[in-house]
Amino acid sequence: MAKVKVATIWLEGCAGCHMSFLDIDEAIVELASAVEFSRSPITDIKEFVPVDVGIVEGGVGNTEEEEVLKELRANCKILMALGDCACFGAVGAMRSSFSKEEVLRRGYIETESTCEGKIPGPPAVPALLDQVKPANHVVKVDCYVPGCPPEAGAILYSLKELLAGRIPVLPSDMMRFD
Ligand code: SF4
Repeated sequence: MAKVKVATIWLEGCAGCHMSFLDIDEAIVELASAVEFSRSPITDIKEFVPVDVGIVEGGVGNTEEEEVLKELRANCKILMALGDCACFGAVGAMRSSFSKEEVLRRGYIETESTCEGKIPGPPAVPALLDQVKPANHVVKVDCYVPGCPPEAGAILYSLKELLAGRIPVLPSDMMRFD
């Protein structure tokens, strides 16, 4: 049987969602026989090719992240938002209560360890969006796996549902966070 092709991207997030995915431990061996990863921080492949499932970790906070997410959407049949940052903006969106100018000034000039700071612009760093957005404010998202990070069991459940040809809907006991 042909393997299901999967690509994952890491936008405005901390990589914790990808780390939680790797926490599925030995189940990854079973998964490896059914899934082939293309572009992903896990494989370090940078190019997009058409895939069955796209997975996005992180919110969308700058122009480059917006482009990468649109490219993933254009190359996948089903897009999954993985983690609170991709589902809701969450941690990255905390900067949305400040203006872009305030955020850049604080980050590049006012930090206590900075001497003679200078705010870089594109192309050195991509331009910030006014606000950090969840993935579904930029593209159509087909399924959501919330959590910060989602538990490995919830990620595995969702991937198995996708492999079975179903859009995953997390049962309520996987939606509780301790
Ligand atoms: S949801 Fe939590 S673990 Fe995942 S990227 Fe955001 S902050 Fe990190």
